[in-house]
Amino acid sequence: MDDTISSLPRPSRRAARDYRWDQVEVRPYKEDERALFKKVSRQILFSDPALSSELRYFEVEAGGFSTLERHEHMHAVMVLRGRGECLVGREVRNIELHDLVIVPPWTWHQFRAGAGEPLGFLCMVNARRDKPQLPTPADLAELRKDESVARFLGGSEEQR
Ligand code: MN
Repeated sequence: MDDTISSLPRPSRRAARDYRWDQVEVRPYKEDERALFKKVSRQILFSDPALSSELRYFEVEAGGFSTLERHEHMHAVMVLRGRGECLVGREVRNIELHDLVIVPPWTWHQFRAGAGEPLGFLCMVNARRDKPQLPTPADLAELRKDESVARFLGGSEEQR
């Protein structure tokens, strides 16, 4: 039998209620203490030594947001639940069910759920990847020069 297959608990995992999957653990979003985020969970749907990418499901609760960060590796995202907003580079967009978002290398990005509902999304990412960079005060000041980005980032208490 193929080692990579036998290392998995099961070749298929059923969807459970409420955006959960059998044998898939709901984890905290990040172990990185430097990172500012709020109300985000993470599930690793596919990860295998034989795959060069991973597929994860992230869920941002209403009013929550992911870390504002950038890195060399890319993300390919599809919205699977609810709606919200994202920042990619200097572009702020409303995102809805089944929208696709590409995050190119070295591009600042953040995902926010709206006030009234969660935002859940699939995120494909390189299995081997570099550690994210967080914005310096100078980076934030540069980002905030754009009015729509400043509005997206919100009050100075949240993003410093
Ligand atoms: Mn990222």
